[in-house]
Amino acid sequence: MHIQHHIQLRPYNSFRTKAVARLFCEPQSVEELTEILKRYPTEKKLILGGGCNLFFTEDFEGLVIRPAIKGIELIRETEQEVEVEAGAAEEWDRFVDQCVSKGFSGVENLSLIPGSMGASPVQNIGAYGTEVKDTIVLVKTVDMQTGEPKAFTAGQCGFSYRDSLFKRSRRYIITSVRFRLQKSFTYREKYADLSRELSGIATPTLTQVREAIIRIRTRKLPDPDLLPNAGSFFKNPVLPLEAKDVLLKTLPDLPLFPAGENRWKTSAAYLIEKAGYKGKRKGMVGISGDHALIIVNYGTDNGKEIVAFMKEVQNEVFRQCGVMLEPEVWIF
Ligand SMILES: Cc1cc2nc3c(=O)[nH]c(=O)nc-3n(C[C@H](O)[C@H](O)[C@H](O)COP(=O)(O)OP(=O)(O)OC[C@H]3O[C@@H](n4cnc5c(N)ncnc54)[C@H](O)[C@@H]3O)c2cc1C
Repeated sequence: MHIQHHIQLRPYNSFRTKAVARLFCEPQSVEELTEILKRYPTEKKLILGGGCNLFFTEDFEGLVIRPAIKGIELIRETEQEVEVEAGAAEEWDRFVDQCVSKGFSGVENLSLIPGSMGASPVQNIGAYGTEVKDTIVLVKTVDMQTGEPKAFTAGQCGFSYRDSLFKRSRRYIITSVRFRLQKSFTYREKYADLSRELSGIATPTLTQVREAIIRIRTRKLPDPDLLPNAGSFFKNPVLPLEAKDVLLKTLPDLPLFPAGENRWKTSAAYLIEKAGYKGKRKGMVGISGDHALIIVNYGTDNGKEIVAFMKEVQNEVFRQCGVMLEPEVWIF
């Protein structure tokens, strides 16, 4: 297995910040991965997918592992459903595209989310009323502590909103993910934006749903290749009952969604906009004018500038609304 030294990580993160990895490798199989873990048992490690949900603020004095395990395989098929397994290095949206073109439904609402298959369970990616956990049946990993392969059923993955056991423990390298998908499709209204986009169509097909989502996302989200960013920067905050009631007094139009007993999820984008940060720029960093949840990089390669801006937004939202926003993006 080839280990590279002193690799520049700027091309490997969608925010395009600079950092050097002391060691870097791209294992192409589970066997290569376990061999690396045996060779570097104590080295500090960072697992990298497409780098669309992270950025760097300093050099990484350890081993970056970027799984290069590919392949999409049909595991099981019945009259109603299929099980499909995909390697960690498969591009997420290429997988969605293949599923939709074969008529397999379940992941179409997650169209055009950038990044790799291996990262998809980590933050339980979600969009348009769907989360990836809804279709996952098995996540195959290698345990960084023991070097041994370990598979998790969906129920063992500890999935919740933008969260999983993999995100909390940071102990497992995901090598492949298995999905159960349906061979039939009926469009169900889950999300106002999407229904609006499909309003002229009486019974939308799977392909029409994917195409509608691609149109909405292309209109709304800045393309990281043109304007580096990592998508939604902050999580939508979940408020306890009292905090929600206090906030409603000053912000009567606060969007609220039930999030369990006496808990309410609100919109981080709304709070950022209320704090006056939508479209605001400071030096080389700012908030997108089209989407208040997205921090964009106008031309710095220094991740610390992004962190400074993030803190300013957090402090100002807290000062004005009393809510401390938590980043969804990983900062290394
Ligand atoms: C324009 C844009 C739009 C986006 N829209 C959405 C959206 O609608 N919904 C959504 O949920 N997200 C969205 N994101 C965030 C991002 O696409 C997802 O988080 C995606 O899963 C990141 O994949 P990645 O391969 O780039 O992961 P990376 O950024 O490389 O890694 C993310 C985290 O996962 C870990 N990781 C990566 N691969 C593995 C692996 N094989 N095993 C174990 N850990 C691993 C990393 O260590 C890191 O902690 C968006 C991002 C952008 C730039």
